[in-house]
Amino acid sequence: MTESRRRAFVAANWKMHGTRRMVLDYASDWPETTPQVDIVLCPPWGYLGHVRSVFDGKDIRFGVQHTEIEPHGAFTGEHAAEMARDLGAEFAIVGHSERRRLFGETDEVVAGKFAAALRAGLTPILCVGETLDERRQGAAETVVATQLDAIIDQCGASMLTDCVIAYEPVWAIGTGETATPAEAQEMHAAIRAKLVRQGVAQAEGVRIVYGGSVKVANAPELFAEPDIDGALVGGASLDAVEFAEICCAAA
Ligand code: PEP
Repeated sequence: MTESRRRAFVAANWKMHGTRRMVLDYASDWPETTPQVDIVLCPPWGYLGHVRSVFDGKDIRFGVQHTEIEPHGAFTGEHAAEMARDLGAEFAIVGHSERRRLFGETDEVVAGKFAAALRAGLTPILCVGETLDERRQGAAETVVATQLDAIIDQCGASMLTDCVIAYEPVWAIGTGETATPAEAQEMHAAIRAKLVRQGVAQAEGVRIVYGGSVKVANAPELFAEPDIDGALVGGASLDAVEFAEICCAAA
């Protein structure tokens, strides 16, 4: 598959933001014609049903921001991937750097959640990326390769065919600092080369999206790069008009 066959993919990570009112306002600000890319809204778990019903009939899909590894059991406060599927989600963000940093999710835990998402029939949006220190030490590619290896070791390389990879340099998330298009492209190409080396089936067809302070102002130049297939958008996805414009830029 050539790069031109990859359909653009843009996901909104609302993080821990939103109210019922915000969801209604968001839907009324959403354009009449939904841009022709794969669009996924990942609201907080508690709003998933509300968001789904408000966006009913629009060409938009839904995801969750994290899941527990186990399918059910005594895990007070947690949510299983199977529950996300049951509620109509099709995607699960896995390994977001905020989960890794604030909730202690190791590469092994992330791999467990990746496997759980696949088991439940969800498509994982697998986040990988280096910290600023790691980049300054010239270790960006090694760090990302190690994060991918954890998935390969636990789930097998073939499972990477069925995910979307989000390259999200930690230093660019929520900071207003974005990787330059050339920096991002270099990492995306390195990730794709690794998929090819590992024998991942249809590696050329795996969507690799960029995340880290994507806005309308910087999206077009990022999307112009050959291996940047869309975006995982945090802050800017809370504004329906801005997020829709980012989706248009990816189309
Ligand atoms: C994110 O949360 O995945 C993200 C990329 O956030 P932001 O766009 O705010 O940097």
